[in-house]
Amino acid sequence: LVVLKDVNKYYGKLHVLKDINLTINEGEVVVIIGPSGSGKSTLCRTINRLETIDSGTITIDGKPLPSEGRELARLRAEVGMVFQSFNLFAHKTVLENVTLGPIKVRRIPKAQAEQRARELLQRVGVADQADKLPAQLSGGQQQRVAIARTLAMNPKVILFDEPTSALDPEMINEVLDVMRSLARDGMTMVVVTHEMGFARSAANRVVFMADGRIVEESTPEEFFANPKTDRAKDFLSKIL
Ligand code: ATP
Ligand code: MG
Repeated sequence: LVVLKDVNKYYGKLHVLKDINLTINEGEVVVIIGPSGSGKSTLCRTINRLETIDSGTITIDGKPLPSEGRELARLRAEVGMVFQSFNLFAHKTVLENVTLGPIKVRRIPKAQAEQRARELLQRVGVADQADKLPAQLSGGQQQRVAIARTLAMNPKVILFDEPTSALDPEMINEVLDVMRSLARDGMTMVVVTHEMGFARSAANRVVFMADGRIVEESTPEEFFANPKTDRAKDFLSKIL
């Protein structure tokens, strides 16, 4: 579904992505882990072109990423992204947050968009919050709204960049549970996370990054039981 070939990216002189080769198959959950500054967020952001790349190619369904205009808007709908900081529209209600994209980008009639939004809010467990403003919700609820908003665009793949890092511990699981249920339903997902329990239970593949490179790529069973490199062993010893 998503194929990165020999991708390199620089911020000025800083070489942040080094010869990245990665294939994300349909229905797969790929968890990306690695130390701070290793390029995990940058990698996610290149896939929906929030960041450009300096060399290499990224294709979705065999087509190169568009660079501008309508096509780019469509890409952003096809490749959903959920951030650490929720990024909901503060002055719009929960329901409006979920219907805005479908109405504006997908040109879906308002009533239809609202009906679907209510179904999605139900699915992530916040149906009763539809008419509130984001600030009136807990962090866990806001992140579940952000997931519903992404789902409303019918994405082919969803990128999650540390979706639970800003949450109080008791709210982490309610978000991870939603993500696990999406995974079970076959959603293609790329997840940057420090939640190793999620990686073990939901990932088809673990990608370990360090210094802008993919250092290891294996099943979670293999990775956690038998990390091959010192970098990975060192990282795991610090977080487990
Ligand atoms: P973390 O776990 O802390 O989120 P990360 O693995 O997501 O780290 P990135 O955010 O992708 O790492 O950053 C990779 C490198 O690129 C870091 O050295 C970072 O300082 C640098 N960097 C990130 N964004 C920019 C930017 N907009 N301009 C310049 N340098 C950047
Ligand atoms: Mg990051």
